[in-house]
Amino acid sequence: MTASTPPITLTTNVASLRGVGPQRAAALRRMGIRCVADLLLHLPHRYERELGERSVDEASEAVTPVHGAGATLTVRGEILTLRQVQGRRTRTEATLFDGTGTLLLTWFNAPWLRGKLHPGMTIRAWGKAKRRGDYLQLVNPRWEPIRIEEEVKPRTDRLRPIYPASEEMSSSVLEDLVQQVLEPALANLPDHLHPEYRDQAALPELAAAYRMVHAPANEDEVAFGRRRLAFDELLMLQLGVMLKRAHRRRAYRAPSLKRTPQIDQRIRRRFPFPLTESQNAVIEEIVADVGREGPMNRLLQGDVGSGKTVVALYAMLLAVAAGHQAALMAPTEVLAEQHDATIRAMLAGSRVRMESLTGALPAAARRSIQQRLREGELDLVIGTHSLLAEKVKFKSLALAVVDEQHRFGVEQRAVLRVKSTEPDLVAHTLVMTATPIPRTLSLTVFGDLDVSTIRGLPPGRAPIATRVVSPERCDEVYAYLARRIAQGEQAYIVVPVIDETESGLTAVDTHLKRLAEGHFRGRRLAAMHGRLKKDERDEVMRRFREGDIDVLVATTVIEVGVDVPNASIMVIEQADRFGLAQLHQLRGRVGRGSKHSICVLIGDPVTDEGKQRLEAIAASNDGFAIAEKDLEIRGPGELFGTRQSGLPPFRVAQLPRDLPLLQMARRDASAWIEADPELASPRDALLRKRLLKAYGQALGLGDVA
Ligand code: ADP
Ligand code: MG
Repeated sequence: MTASTPPITLTTNVASLRGVGPQRAAALRRMGIRCVADLLLHLPHRYERELGERSVDEASEAVTPVHGAGATLTVRGEILTLRQVQGRRTRTEATLFDGTGTLLLTWFNAPWLRGKLHPGMTIRAWGKAKRRGDYLQLVNPRWEPIRIEEEVKPRTDRLRPIYPASEEMSSSVLEDLVQQVLEPALANLPDHLHPEYRDQAALPELAAAYRMVHAPANEDEVAFGRRRLAFDELLMLQLGVMLKRAHRRRAYRAPSLKRTPQIDQRIRRRFPFPLTESQNAVIEEIVADVGREGPMNRLLQGDVGSGKTVVALYAMLLAVAAGHQAALMAPTEVLAEQHDATIRAMLAGSRVRMESLTGALPAAARRSIQQRLREGELDLVIGTHSLLAEKVKFKSLALAVVDEQHRFGVEQRAVLRVKSTEPDLVAHTLVMTATPIPRTLSLTVFGDLDVSTIRGLPPGRAPIATRVVSPERCDEVYAYLARRIAQGEQAYIVVPVIDETESGLTAVDTHLKRLAEGHFRGRRLAAMHGRLKKDERDEVMRRFREGDIDVLVATTVIEVGVDVPNASIMVIEQADRFGLAQLHQLRGRVGRGSKHSICVLIGDPVTDEGKQRLEAIAASNDGFAIAEKDLEIRGPGELFGTRQSGLPPFRVAQLPRDLPLLQMARRDASAWIEADPELASPRDALLRKRLLKAYGQALGLGDVA
């Protein structure tokens, strides 16, 4: 290094490190490592015990079965003999003598060693030790020459970090790089957690934590350091979530929506059925929330078919009764159209003025709806993403409902809230999901939402029988289907979206044609997929709902929300291509009436995971159980919702493993923000800065800062 080399800091580009050329820089980039901070956050995923330098004699005792295959040994000595052995794999063998004994060094396929090693030379060699007869052997050891005149200190025992590596970037290269940057980068790394808090929470200092995970003295240090780094991530996110929540409570008010017995009666009269106990309980939670001026931010979760829509409608009508407006946003046109149909039917003859605003609407109609929303001439609007458009403004939006919220990002949900033209007035928000959120996640990503849960299904539902059938037997399946359809039942047949065939037909059309000419000759079939125009889709759904279509051959556009009680049969082709949660959603389209429903999964899973998915879906009808199973199969790395949430993934923390840490973070963050709602204490300036950098954008903390 020359004097002009700039010092290594957290922001130093890894390309400027010693030993990193363009190729390695690119390989690092592909692993997401650009600067020194990234390198420090690239944590070892395990450690190997590396025994320090020992005499051959001592080493013979040290390499016991206790250390097993993981033990790495370091010895130094003189090379006595060296030879090449030809064979299936050419190997180079050397004997190393250190005065106490002899050790065998073996390298496979390394002919170049001949020119570098020679008898009489003193080297230090380290690698995995094995016993071979009476000898200890190191296979493919690393080594370095030792010049006698130099004083080279013996190595001591250590834990060697093993890093997640790629084909182009080995763990040992990463190790060298980390060792290169560790001290200079940590020398000036200030800690964002103040000492009193660290003491109380038994956390090491930040720089020390990095040292402990990258160059640990022992296993305890590994755990101690990792705990601090994992906790940091969880704490930051919790603080961010709480900061936002505190800000919202303080800075915004929403219309307080009061319910009277008359209003309650008037709303319930609109529903064609009495609500279940669970629906009523959830409504009480919502009513309590919207009665206050602090904006509601509530998640309503309930399994597919549990009846979330009427609960939302109840809340929307409460807003309308109070003279305000309400909006319902759905992720697909099909679903928006259906909500329009069911809600319109329930509101027939009432004075509620409602319209649907979807992307498919002609410009003039859209403009007219927008104008009426602005002027308060519409009470209720249903729509898709098009509700988020800048031009859409409300005179007085009191409630925004987001259906199937997992299809939307955090920011999108937030946009609706602030659509009122009245400044400072925000809407109460109710987001709904049929994909239950595992507890671990509800504490993180959705940490700023209050959760209501509808348990169970409305009465009178016959259970759905689920069968997994291999493709060879699909003829039997369709023959059976044909018989049930002959008796007046309706069916969905779902095919995965795959590339168009040569003839230009979609997978749906091709399958439909085959069925129409085969098992379902004489039956009324229709196709349903994303490429149909809105009025075509409307027409198909209307006819299916009215029983004019027997079989709907569809893609997953029918996955969310579609509700046709007479449809009691579902066949899912190539079911192993779908995710577990998705299969459960799809299946939820049947079993909505009193007929005995069946869901047939045709599939021939090739992977273990595929097999597990089909078994899991066949074994349970309970969305919550399935969500847990999904988590188990996919592992915590892919927690549902993290990607959609737009949050950066955790780099150190692992859920559910770190659940206790998460709970601690949540508790502490809550107390912290309660005491200092803006995180404004000068002591926490750095914490605040790092927090905004990490989560500011994803959590929409812009106006907090
Ligand atoms: P999801 O929770 O999946 O959105 P929906 O709101 O679409 O479910 O409701 C599913 C079906 O159950 C609809 O046909 C709806 O009319 C019906 N339903 C909802 N609540 C009740 C109830 N209390 N009694 C009977 N049927 C109900
Ligand atoms: Mg729904």
